[in-house]
Amino acid sequence: MAASAFCCPACHGRLTLSDRPRCRGCGARFDAIGGVPLLIANADRAVVDRRDDPRPLPAHDCAGLGIAAIDDALARDDRMLELGAGRETTTDPHVVRTDAFVYAAEHLDVVADAHALPFPDATFDFVFSLAVFEHLHSPWLAAEEIARVLRPGGRVFTLCAFLQPLHGYPDHYFNTTESGLRRLFRDGFEIESCGPSRLSSHRESAVPLYRMREMAEAYGRETRAPLRTRWRRRRPVPAARRPLARGAGRARGLAPDRTVGRAAGSASLRRSRAVAYTTRALLLHGPGRTRTYV
Ligand SMILES: [Zn+2]
Repeated sequence: MAASAFCCPACHGRLTLSDRPRCRGCGARFDAIGGVPLLIANADRAVVDRRDDPRPLPAHDCAGLGIAAIDDALARDDRMLELGAGRETTTDPHVVRTDAFVYAAEHLDVVADAHALPFPDATFDFVFSLAVFEHLHSPWLAAEEIARVLRPGGRVFTLCAFLQPLHGYPDHYFNTTESGLRRLFRDGFEIESCGPSRLSSHRESAVPLYRMREMAEAYGRETRAPLRTRWRRRRPVPAARRPLARGAGRARGLAPDRTVGRAAGSASLRRSRAVAYTTRALLLHGPGRTRTYV
């Protein structure tokens, strides 16, 4: 996307064409990271620049995910915007890749905040986001921005966390039910379809049965622990196993100690690695008002 196609995210004024663009309207100044325009007002570079993150996002190619709405948009040569592109590897020139953080500069066209997009009205035919909305602090503002930058009749595809546990990138605010997603896009869109999805960036837990088994196992571990503790209180505890026994006892409030908090937290983090059952929606941007479909 040509730099001249961007605008000020604050006032939508035109930008000067330079390495450090300035808004001709409000005078706001912007920067760049790795040659990628950083069009977020008052951005904190130390927060945005995650190129040295020891746990980078996995790469993905939007054309290889088997999502029909995206495949159709690519086939139509739609002007496409990907919100939260992360390490998107597509080289399709019709896809503008944005993210609020830079994980690898070569995978982005512009650094942008979904709550205040640096594009003029009606710029795109298709906007999509994959596992992004749970990371937006005010997703209703992002929905308004999507409606603004879409042309009338344009389409949106979004995939949100539903049964995913807490995860970062770098903050996780909301998981979304079907009702939540419908409400989020109530104004300005027509919902063509909306519902649960098996799509997940965590393939191993995308199947509900897998997730249920994991939850049952975790529940079993937690409920068995106090029983073991009660049993051990009647028998000598081998020295090597005393820390575990004490921890389990404290978990029931028998002997408060912060040690057990750490143990419980660790278990929770391990469980949180397996993830996901998501909600997705396909929305049609209607002239005059918002229409949504999935
Ligand atoms: Zn401005």
